[in-house]
Amino acid sequence: MTNFTNFRFEADSDGIALATWDMPDRSMNVITPQVMDELSQLIEKVAADEAIKGCVITSGKESFSGGADLTMLQSSNAEFMRVAKEKGEEAANTFLFEESRKLSLLYRRLETCGKPFAVAIHGVCLGGAFELALACHFRVLSDVDSTRVGLPEVKVGLFPGAGGTQRVARLMQTGDALQMLFKGEQLRPLMARNMGLAHAVAPRDQIVQTAKDWIKNGGSAVAPWDQKGYKLPSNKVYSAAGMQIWPPANAIYRRETQDNYPAIRAILETVYQGLQLPMDLALKVESRWFAKILRSKEAAAMIRTLFLSMQDLNKGARRPKDVPPTSIKKVGVVGAGFMGASVAYVTANAGLQVVLIDRDVEAAEKGKAHSHKLMSDQIMKGRAKTADRDALLERITASADYSDLTDCDLVIEAVFEDPKVKAEVIQKVEAAIRPDCIFASNTSTLPISGLAKNAKNAGQFIGIHFFSPVEKMMLVEIILGKETGDKALATALDYVRLIKKTPIVVNDSRGFFANRCVLGYILEGHLMLIEGVPAAMIEQAGKQAGMPVGPLSLNDEVGVDLGLKILRATKAQLGDAAIVPEQEELLTALVEKEGRFGRKNRKGFYDYPEGGQKRLWPGLKELQVNPVEAELIDMQELKQRLLVAQALEAARTFEEGVITDPREADVGSILGFGFAPYTGGALSYIDFMGAKTFVELCQKLQARHGERFAPPKLLLDMAASGETFYGRAAAKKAA
Ligand code: NAD
Repeated sequence: MTNFTNFRFEADSDGIALATWDMPDRSMNVITPQVMDELSQLIEKVAADEAIKGCVITSGKESFSGGADLTMLQSSNAEFMRVAKEKGEEAANTFLFEESRKLSLLYRRLETCGKPFAVAIHGVCLGGAFELALACHFRVLSDVDSTRVGLPEVKVGLFPGAGGTQRVARLMQTGDALQMLFKGEQLRPLMARNMGLAHAVAPRDQIVQTAKDWIKNGGSAVAPWDQKGYKLPSNKVYSAAGMQIWPPANAIYRRETQDNYPAIRAILETVYQGLQLPMDLALKVESRWFAKILRSKEAAAMIRTLFLSMQDLNKGARRPKDVPPTSIKKVGVVGAGFMGASVAYVTANAGLQVVLIDRDVEAAEKGKAHSHKLMSDQIMKGRAKTADRDALLERITASADYSDLTDCDLVIEAVFEDPKVKAEVIQKVEAAIRPDCIFASNTSTLPISGLAKNAKNAGQFIGIHFFSPVEKMMLVEIILGKETGDKALATALDYVRLIKKTPIVVNDSRGFFANRCVLGYILEGHLMLIEGVPAAMIEQAGKQAGMPVGPLSLNDEVGVDLGLKILRATKAQLGDAAIVPEQEELLTALVEKEGRFGRKNRKGFYDYPEGGQKRLWPGLKELQVNPVEAELIDMQELKQRLLVAQALEAARTFEEGVITDPREADVGSILGFGFAPYTGGALSYIDFMGAKTFVELCQKLQARHGERFAPPKLLLDMAASGETFYGRAAAKKAA
């Protein structure tokens, strides 16, 4: 038995080696320079040792591996800068290309070393780890539901650069391969096998044996594409079949990405070029694109926000250090309506006990029935068993009796958004709970400090703001009232961690963080409509800018009537100057004159015909006094307005101290309202452009469209000093 630091390596009496990847001091295997080095030694050993017939690679952990250590890629970028400074840009490019293709060359060596390699996978096997698997000659997956394989690199602005694009495109029909690579999907075992990405699925305790048997029975050490007579699954690129694939593939790429994601474009290029070349050259093409994408600002922005920052926040970056771990076992949810019912579900789904309270037992039971429905849907899809549903429902007690809250560790209220109702409920809850129980409100508009005045112990009162649909939305905003204490914050963060969502911590302010920014997006859409911009162009501008839906669609989803309600409440509390009167006129006409409330009554900015596709309501044109010809409109400016409006609001929340950490603004803006992910989030959008350029853009828009685009002092200062949000945060931390 030869021992490496990260692999246990032993050969059995049949001469079949087993390399068990099991990194010390890590809960998950990741690819690091040391792992690459040891893997290389291991491959050479198998290749050279005549007594070894072949090798099975498996993992000694609960999962196979999450892929490459992304901080490794970050440091290669730092190296690039150093070489560029010392030896010039060209030398730096060569350096990065050579550096970043090492993994690809290593896997190719494994694939062509002359001995068969098989991989036995249990648990997740993603990214660079799945690329390792793809280079092996045989892949067997455990038949366990948690086993997943995939190449999710695109989700952080990268793409599979260690042979993934080439091997997937040689194993699957080109259309399917492109789709899998574009989406970065994670596949379950049977799906992966049916798609041709794995050879076998076996019970967990038999995967290693299955892999060994394959070698013992003479499994070939030559990959299909290195064999004579190999044919591409979808025929040649320049063939009749290829012509059916490539033109639509381009169109699909444009439709899905609006050309905002260089990594996805690189996949298209790499597969297109690679399929016309022999494997070694194809891998070289992939490596060239990979090095280019590594240097893209989109990759830098997405890795920082969607991987590193999100990981930090999930691990409790904002948790007060001196509060000992809390033990949350039972959670009360008061108000079993739209939000409360879903909060009860996600809580019970995390294995916690839930007491779900409403005004009467019927209403509480109705809320609980929502969990029944969601679990039944899961059963239908084969993702849960009846016993799981029964167990989950068992954990939820529907009740109208507040005394059932006695032994809760945390109570979340989600009753009507009415200060009087909330005040009454707060008192009733407080009369029932333990003195150390933390009490949270899911309010979307009422200041937490104001609500806390009704509580006996404001230090234990906090905001836990969910987004709808709760089951899908990964963000939770935690709102600190003026008096909220550390224990309340720690409990709220621990709870969010238990339900596997991502928290951001914000200080109390109207609309908190996410809703404030997103209202800016919707307002801009309304104002464009009022100016006479065709509605279809507004929607298209939103999508081209990288938002998941246009501003008018978004307003339909949240409710046009709700928009009007919020506007009027803002006016009542802050005065006429706090709103844009034209927006109120537009919404009043839609809601009160036309009865258009949004998707909920199938009539909003769009019509939602029963069983048909939604389409923009033709009557919108009648509301436009001065329609403008589409040809006269600057699409680029529409896109800028839609993003700048949100980014400016995010910068204001930062200036006001509502948001205190740029990581939270960025993660919150992408997870909370889908702010163009390729930018890395609302503040990264400013940072990557540079405050000076951003301020100039704001001033140009201010001159043309009004004071709402006036850059705040913070940005003017940053423009003058050349600072970035992240630079400031780092300097503050160091001080
Ligand atoms: P909802 O009207 O669907 O549900 C409110 C529930 O509270 C109802 O079931 C009602 O019977 C119950 N209720 C009212 N008074 C009660 C009392 N005295 N005791 C016990 N139960 C009582 O409303 P919703 O949309 O679920 O909103 C609830 C809260 O969540 C509000 O504060 C809202 O601002 C907030 N919120 C809503 C959304 C959203 O998208 N709807 C998003 C985030 C936060």
